[in-house]
Amino acid sequence: MAHVITDTCIKDGLCMEACPSEAIGPAPGTPEFDAVPQLYINPSECLDCGGCAAACPTNSIFCIGDLPADKADAAAKNAAYYKK
Ligand code: SF4
Repeated sequence: MAHVITDTCIKDGLCMEACPSEAIGPAPGTPEFDAVPQLYINPSECLDCGGCAAACPTNSIFCIGDLPADKADAAAKNAAYYKK
């Protein structure tokens, strides 16, 4: 299991500061950061600790198993970002 970021993300980066495993990207200040509409969690790096979800001011982060039905595509979107 992993946590995933959904499309209400505003890229404030607070989740990155909370993450103990550097599982969230892209990093602020990079061209990739400016290009993406939201941040993404690498499912291979996520420890499923929940720290990011607690830090998110827009409640945009969920455990995969708790994703709302209308956000079900978020898991694939997060994973796809790291398969590039
Ligand atoms: S659940 Fe924990 S390890 Fe996974 S992305 Fe969030 S803060 Fe990082």
